[in-house]
Amino acid sequence: MRAMTNSIIRTRFAPSPTGLLHLGNVRTALFSALRARSRGGHFLLRIEDTDAERSRPEFVDALQRDLRWLGLDWDEGFGAGGDAGPYAQSERGELYAGYYSQLIDKGLAYPCFCSPAELERGRKRMRAQGKPPRYPGTCAHLSAEEGGRREAEGQKPTLRFRVPLGRTIRFEDGVRGPVSFRTDEIGDFVIRRSDGTPAFFFSNAIDDALMGVTDVVRGEDHIANTPRQMLLLEALGLAAPAYHHLPLVMGQDGAPLSKRNGSASVEELRTKGYLPVAILNHLARLGHRYESDALLSPTELAAGFSPERIGHSAARHDPQQLDHWQSEALRSLSDAEMQAYLEAAGVLEAVAAEQRPALARLLRDNITRAEEAPLWVAAFAADPAPYSAAAREELTAAGAEFFSAGLEALDAAEDFPALAKAVGQATERKGRKLFMPLRAALSGQTFGPELPRIWEYLGRERVRLRLEAARRHAAG
Ligand code: GLU
Repeated sequence: MRAMTNSIIRTRFAPSPTGLLHLGNVRTALFSALRARSRGGHFLLRIEDTDAERSRPEFVDALQRDLRWLGLDWDEGFGAGGDAGPYAQSERGELYAGYYSQLIDKGLAYPCFCSPAELERGRKRMRAQGKPPRYPGTCAHLSAEEGGRREAEGQKPTLRFRVPLGRTIRFEDGVRGPVSFRTDEIGDFVIRRSDGTPAFFFSNAIDDALMGVTDVVRGEDHIANTPRQMLLLEALGLAAPAYHHLPLVMGQDGAPLSKRNGSASVEELRTKGYLPVAILNHLARLGHRYESDALLSPTELAAGFSPERIGHSAARHDPQQLDHWQSEALRSLSDAEMQAYLEAAGVLEAVAAEQRPALARLLRDNITRAEEAPLWVAAFAADPAPYSAAAREELTAAGAEFFSAGLEALDAAEDFPALAKAVGQATERKGRKLFMPLRAALSGQTFGPELPRIWEYLGRERVRLRLEAARRHAAG
């Protein structure tokens, strides 16, 4: 085993760039980053692009942009440099070659000429015998001559790792505790594909060791891969990291979260106006418990993170929960930040510069995402407010006299509660019958920001214009 000379925690995110980052895989990145940050460690980015057909440079660009936007910057790795590069697996072929040779020389890896059809037949046979399908060892003892002959014929072998029989591989999972697998159930597995590219088990494990990764944080779907990877590392005299397997995230339908059942891409969420801190608070609680129910800053999320607080059962992604954090995140913004958020989303363009700060303040408590802002921008930018159908009904039902009463009370009213009280007394209305027509008149809508806040925003003279317009409408 190679001694770990330095005890600093090193975690990594190792995406395959075959699509956009979405909530499911970004949670893995977040937990890896939090594990490192909670312990003053380093977080690395490694690109697992061994599948040349499905990997795309635009996804490599997109995932870096998404991670940075979320504030999940990495200390080392692809695009950031470091001593253990290159950090894209497609550029590490030479390094891998040395390890294949070592395994071949030790008799721990052998070429396999089985065709996919033969392998499938083998799996069927095993299943028919009620056994878990695993490689039956067809090529495990081919002579060197036979192997050479087949290669000379142009057959392209894969390289398989020889799994030792009769052993039990045990490890202490940081989330699940002691885990064990019997090697008899594993079967010799492919470490190099017939086109010469490394198989996942191999490059992923080797790179964790060569990059000095101390803690692998990844989805539970990888747990059965772990004993294979530990065997490989052991055979090569490389140190195995500590493993932390995260419970899966489910969609609303109870199936693993995917793009099909609600896992939005980070790009989509950004376009809709979600804030990074909202997404982080949502994801950090998918399978991990925090003592606080309040919106936490990235630093607080790291400080409160611990593998012991990760649950064993699957977590469910609830889009309403994400919206809850988004509302909290907006409420945590200063007026200037809220204004900047709305401006960046391009929804304040029609609003005069001097009106923007107050409008931003008014909207902060009332919208969840920037995409909801245009309705309120239209409602408050100019007088009178455009009326929704529901608001028109309220105005008509209240009648012109109701608004006359409002106009009469207006000059003496100091604020909205005083106005509402005076109108209530004059018209003998209260509750919904009093407030709904006032809301419809002042905002053109039947829901929205609190009425005292609307008054504060509009000021007495604009309230007057709106009550007059409402009276005209009610008078038909
Ligand atoms: N590239 C692998 C994946 O995206 C990484 C798995 C791991 O974290 O070990 O699933």
